[in-house]
Order: sequence, then C-alpha cells, then structure tokens
Amino acid sequence: MRITAIHTHLLEAPLAEPFAYSRAWYGTRTAMLVEVETDSGLTGWGECYGPAPMTQAVVRTIAPWLTGADPLRTEWIWQDVYARLRDHGQKGLVIEGLSGIDIALWDLKGKHFGVPVHRLMGGPLRTDVEAYATGLYRRKAGDPLKYLPEEAAGYVADGFRAVKLKVGFGVAEDAAVTRAVREAIGPEIGLMVDANHAYDAVAAMALGRLIEPLDIGWFEEPVPPEDLAGYKAVKAALGIPIAGGECEYTRYGFREVLTAHAMDIIQPDICAAGGLSECKKIADMAMAFGVRYNPHVWGTGIGIAASLQLLAVLPAHTPPSLRPAEPLLEFDRTEHPIRQAILRTPIEHSGGRVRIPDGPGLGIDIDREALARFKTRHDAR
Ligand code: CA
Repeated sequence: MRITAIHTHLLEAPLAEPFAYSRAWYGTRTAMLVEVETDSGLTGWGECYGPAPMTQAVVRTIAPWLTGADPLRTEWIWQDVYARLRDHGQKGLVIEGLSGIDIALWDLKGKHFGVPVHRLMGGPLRTDVEAYATGLYRRKAGDPLKYLPEEAAGYVADGFRAVKLKVGFGVAEDAAVTRAVREAIGPEIGLMVDANHAYDAVAAMALGRLIEPLDIGWFEEPVPPEDLAGYKAVKAALGIPIAGGECEYTRYGFREVLTAHAMDIIQPDICAAGGLSECKKIADMAMAFGVRYNPHVWGTGIGIAASLQLLAVLPAHTPPSLRPAEPLLEFDRTEHPIRQAILRTPIEHSGGRVRIPDGPGLGIDIDREALARFKTRHDAR
C-alpha cells in the first residue's frame, strides 16, 4: 500500500448564536480535515486543531513529501516530518498539521488490518467512557448568573455526571457564577472550571481560594502555557487539581511539564499535540510521573473518534485497583453545525457515557455530501 495523495478539507459554518470564552467570541466554527488516499483504494481521515487555513497550508506543504510512502510506517513518517521541520516547528501549527496526518494514517492502518485503532495500540482497557459536558460559555444577552446555572442543570438532566464552566471574566464574577452553578447542580455532580489562561498566577490563586470550598474537580489553564513557574505556584497554593496542556505539543513539550511537576492533569489534544502516535507516548510518560491524562477535545466527529480510540487505551489512575479513577472524554455541547453532520453515524452520549467506536480504523464513516455543504470558498484545494 502506498500513499497516492493527501487532500485537505477546509470547512466553515456560521453559528446561530455567538458565544464567548475568556479571550474571544466565536461567531463561526471551522474545521480542517485531512484525507489520505492510497493505491489500495482505502482512505484515511484525520483532523487538525488550530487555525484552519494555517494548518491547511502546513498539511499541503507536507503532502508531496509523503506521496509514494508506505502509510503503515506511521512511526517513520512522524519522525521524518518532525525532523524536516524541527528547526522551525517544534510546537504549534507544524505539529497540528502533523497530528491530522498521523490520525489519518492510523485510520488507514486500522482499515487495512480490519480492526479499530485501539486494538493496534494495545487493545481496549474499556469499551465506553464517561463524558463531561463542556459548555457554559457566555452569551451576548442575558444574565450569566441565571442562564449558566440553567444550562448546567440541563446537562445534568441529560445524564452528565460532570460539567465544565468557563471562567476568566474577573475573579469576583467568576466566583459568583461558579457558586451559582454549584448550587444548581448539587453536590454530587463534578464541576470543573477553565480560565483559558486569562489570568496570571496572582489572579488565578485569588480565584482558586474563593472557589476551593465548592469542590472543584480541576482548574484548567489558570495561567498562560509558557508560564510553568506560574502553574507551579498556583498548584502549590491551591487544593484544587490543576489541569492544562491543550497548548502544549509533543513528548518534548510534555517532558518539561512533567519534570517540572507543573500540572496534576495534562490535556494533550490528539489533533494538536502530535496525533495518536505521539499522544500514546505522552500518555505513557504521564503515567510514569503519576499525572492524569484527560484529552482536550474541541473538534468534529473525526477528532472525537480519534480521542475515543486513545481513551480506549489510556490507563486508569492507578491500576490495578477496584475503583480506579477512569479518564474522561471532553464532550463539547456548544453549537457546532459541522461536528456530527460529517459522520454517517453520529457519536452520541447515553446517560453521560460514550461508546468507543469498534469498527475498522477510527470506526467512523464520512458523509461526503456534508463535506461539500460546509466547504468554504477559501478552500484552495
Ligand atoms: Ca480548555
């Protein structure tokens, strides 16, 4: 089997209602998908996290290097692409582009052998996974002290056992909103907060102290990703577990996070940190450091499926034990017209749990009509 072509699909969909996190508004959702074609007739699909037109440029630049390569040599391809760009792309866009290619190669590999990806990565440790609801963003109109608790209660009614709230809008307001959401969902439901690195260590510690009595599952991205000293200070000051890593890349980046003991939970994104090949390595490193790994997931069904394949083989914390803490799936509940539309069979939750796809490769089928529908006019394929 040889690679004959690598195509990119740049997709875009406007939102009915814009929403904001601590640093920006979303008015549209975009996606950058990777399609690897082979002379065997099999096709593999991947997805890149990050600014879609820029990751598209990365993938389109790499594509001709891989024409004629054996797609089953995922490790060789990863190392070759990384080495060619090492001097210029150890983090960020280059690794995001490589991630999408790597995921597509694993999809191909699974289809070639007729098994799900997780069977090739050691076999499943679990067949389904607990999901938490990511939502609770800010809206243009209304009172967040009213609509956020209502939204959170809705997720609980849907069966979710944990929800994640966006913070980073000012310490006092964050504390009031967190308190209101905790009251709405009651003491039994997990509540995490995510500042998207809107704060420095001083503000993050101030917020952490205010919300510490509210039984917070984790405090995500309290400070900017470059500030590992800030992470350490926040982690030392608070009883709340500290999470981060959606803006970190490869085993080399996470080596620094882990050896600094900067986070309790790392969240490498499979579509960003280096794909399935790299995230499995990062997961094994995390386990050796006694650090949990709950993947960051913000993509379409392709990114969700790739995350589920990794979640199938992520170790619990810590096995073997009768009731280990299992890794969680981040399940984005915000509006995303492309997310499930591109899958012939959507990936849904049932009572807050999501089944790990067990078909060949990523275990999904792509709806090409949906791709055509969301293709942007900027897609210079
Ligand atoms: Ca986040």
